[in-house]
Amino acid sequence: MTHVFPRHAKAKLPVAVRGDGVYLFDSEGNSYLDGSGGAAVSCLGHNDPDIIVAIKNQVDSLDFAHTGFMTSEAAEALATRLALHAPEGIDRVYLVSGGSEAVEAALKLARQYMIEIGQSQRTRFIARRQSYHGNTLGALGTGGNIWRRDPFDPIMVSASHIAPCYEYRDRTSVETAEDYGNRVANELEAELLRLGPENVIGFLAEPVVGATAGAVPPVAGYFRRIREICDKYEVLLILDEVMCGMGRTGTFFACEQDGVRPDIVTIAKGLGAGYQPIGAMLCSQDIYDAIAEGSGFFQHGHTYLGHPVACAAANAVVKKLIEGGLTARSDKMGQYLERALFDTFGQHPHVGDIRGRGMFRGLEFVADRDTKAPFDPEKQLAARLKRKAMENGLICYPMSGTIDGQYGDHVLLAPPFIATELQLDELVDKLSKSLKAVL
Ligand code: PMP
Repeated sequence: MTHVFPRHAKAKLPVAVRGDGVYLFDSEGNSYLDGSGGAAVSCLGHNDPDIIVAIKNQVDSLDFAHTGFMTSEAAEALATRLALHAPEGIDRVYLVSGGSEAVEAALKLARQYMIEIGQSQRTRFIARRQSYHGNTLGALGTGGNIWRRDPFDPIMVSASHIAPCYEYRDRTSVETAEDYGNRVANELEAELLRLGPENVIGFLAEPVVGATAGAVPPVAGYFRRIREICDKYEVLLILDEVMCGMGRTGTFFACEQDGVRPDIVTIAKGLGAGYQPIGAMLCSQDIYDAIAEGSGFFQHGHTYLGHPVACAAANAVVKKLIEGGLTARSDKMGQYLERALFDTFGQHPHVGDIRGRGMFRGLEFVADRDTKAPFDPEKQLAARLKRKAMENGLICYPMSGTIDGQYGDHVLLAPPFIATELQLDELVDKLSKSLKAVL
């Protein structure tokens, strides 16, 4: 009997014993190509000697110092490196232990900022129906994933949800992509006017949607219109790059490709690359100054803020992503993966959409390509694909769910940036074989 509390009470999971490059190995000697980097975490692959050395060196010198009393060289070095490569105007870095913590910190910072500038009547957040921002109650409250929210709805922070930017399903045949982007972005303005803009703190969105829908990028211009609306009504734009940031989409921050500047941005997953649990909330100097010159204290905190060992690992990760050229590699190999996916699934009768950016790709499955009708939920396509892929030695991230009343199945692919062309071919082959078996 296991004493670990597993995600699925009845699942019998293989025991991971070793990782090497893009592969994981279990105790029975089976190997798995890590085609989703867990959940878009392992951007450098497994067993990277540079990150392991950085962790060992840090433990040898300083294990821990509580940020209530001291800062550390590791935290300072990481924050400096992140600020240097962050979107323009983003200069302050708050280091936490994961994605949900980063989002909680962002929500609380945004609220406290409004209090500091004399806008304490602002209490509302707006987010999108197609979104996942974490599992803690604040982050879950802003997320739009109905299945994840449902049981906890009565005890959550409430937020309004507007339409996502979901071109595949929502753009009408008479709309240009630009018109479509403006139409859905304008839902933010309508919701602000409905709530009274003076009551709203901020708008929260993933630049490229991850877990809820499988790597859905916005149309060009969408986020520029969102920024205009936020500026007009003086609400904060908070971008959640926990999944899509850190080079995953081919640029260090995903929002760089949308020409948009957030007020607050959250990162995690690829920041620690799986070697350490770490996340961060980055904010503009203006927001920081309002607090520094106001109450002087951000009323938040966790024991493991800025943990030196996690920071040392993340600093080595970011160095590789930027100076080591791995973000550029995500862009290059992402293009290879995109071509391979189109070659294999471009004409597939049950693949409705192939989308994404960089090493962040998604396939949406449909029963009928012309009508875009999804599969019957009873078929449990995503769950069966996940099991079959593992039998075939592939870890990928199939999910199903309901967005805007529309049920659908998709798979998210987020391989390590170090993957070779041969390994990406192997990923696509194994996915194709697994899909064939479950259809
Ligand atoms: N935001 C986004 C966009 C995510 O994808 C996730 C995790 N899938 C989170 C927040 C929560 O991160 P964590 O699981 O590290 O708490």
